[in-house]
Amino acid sequence: MAARDRYSRKLECSQCGNTGFAEVSEADDKRAANRDFRIDELPKGFVTEFAATDPRKYMLRCTDCSHKFRFETKTAYAPGGEPRR
Ligand SMILES: [Zn+2]
Repeated sequence: MAARDRYSRKLECSQCGNTGFAEVSEADDKRAANRDFRIDELPKGFVTEFAATDPRKYMLRCTDCSHKFRFETKTAYAPGGEPRR
């Protein structure tokens, strides 16, 4: 059985600010084509909209405002720079 990486990741709804920590796991080998990504536990306030083994395709939905978003996005910050402080 292949080793799996487990970690928790903060989720944040960009629309209403709802936050929570999800417990997730994926294949240890980051070079593998299929990371076998899985969410083991979702925080209150978030549900799975579309399950995928790729975190960039895994869709979540905020139950507070129904905003849908991907678990992992490449554009976490505004294009062209760091967030303002
Ligand atoms: Zn929301």
